[in-house]
Amino acid sequence: MKIEDLKKEALQKLEKSASIADLENIEKEYLGKKGRIRELSLSLKDLDLEERKQAGIKLNNLSNSLKEKLELKRKMMKLMQIQEKEEKEFLDITIPSPKIKRGHIHPLSLARKELEDIFTHLGFSIVEGPEIEDEWHNFDALNFPLNHPAREMQDTFFIKQRKREELSQNEKLILRTHTSNVQTRYMEAHVPPIKIIVPGRVFRSEATDARHEVCFYQIEGLLVDENVSVANLKAVLESFLQEFFRNKEVKIRLRPSYFPFVEPGFEVDMSCLVCNQKGCSTCGKEGWIEILGAGMVHPNVFKNCGLNPKNVTGFAFGVSVDRLAMMKYKIDDIRWFHSGDLRFLKQF
Ligand SMILES: [Zn+2]
Repeated sequence: MKIEDLKKEALQKLEKSASIADLENIEKEYLGKKGRIRELSLSLKDLDLEERKQAGIKLNNLSNSLKEKLELKRKMMKLMQIQEKEEKEFLDITIPSPKIKRGHIHPLSLARKELEDIFTHLGFSIVEGPEIEDEWHNFDALNFPLNHPAREMQDTFFIKQRKREELSQNEKLILRTHTSNVQTRYMEAHVPPIKIIVPGRVFRSEATDARHEVCFYQIEGLLVDENVSVANLKAVLESFLQEFFRNKEVKIRLRPSYFPFVEPGFEVDMSCLVCNQKGCSTCGKEGWIEILGAGMVHPNVFKNCGLNPKNVTGFAFGVSVDRLAMMKYKIDDIRWFHSGDLRFLKQF
């Protein structure tokens, strides 16, 4: 009777079991080393031989059939688990994937690339130089006197150095304020004729506003040969601006100005493309827009670079890539360039 009761009880539990953990519990309870079947078989020793034999067979059968049933139910449960998982994690490989967003070339890179192409076609080579520069190449060699305002703390970033006051001009470091530093480096190392442009990043310690940034891009041009004249300078500048703005009507005018490294020096204006020189807010009703600084290389600069000013002449110019890009792409604030604003960048 006891065996029949045990069988009934075990099968009921198996029926009700709902998880693999339940099955493990049932297995332990009935089939384990200290399980109910083992317990019952130990109590058989008081029976006589024939009864013990019969009961032993029954218990053995119960144990085997319970094992089988448990195994079967375990398999079913595992199958159901897999099915459930498959339904939950169903992956539709035919759904189109989200589009990868395409990047854009930064407007400053676009402008620089275009300027480099134009000057390469005009026969100029592209040269680069250090952004951390010594005072000699950035100022002294370019004929900047020691008291020039550009050398004040508020205009230039100085690199902290130990015992700076004891260092020579060749050792005192600053962040270059123009790419003209490469003019002197290049002339020290090469013999004319020289025909180079120097694109690169420059730094000014000044308050930022719509037209000024602490860091911007410049292209320096330098042409040194025999008998170079202002007419040559004008021709190069005019054809480069006409090419850059894709407008053969672009005119330039030179106004006398002072830069320490040129003599004579000029501010160069170009005709306003917004109003065709009729006068508008962009050009302040003038019809002309100041675009760059230029001039004939100063004899002192030649001397500082080991060249004889009696034998060579040349012109130099410096133009802000940022300002050219602003005019070409009609950008009203220089601070957009470094803003990282994707709405701005996506337009290019
Ligand atoms: Zn205008």
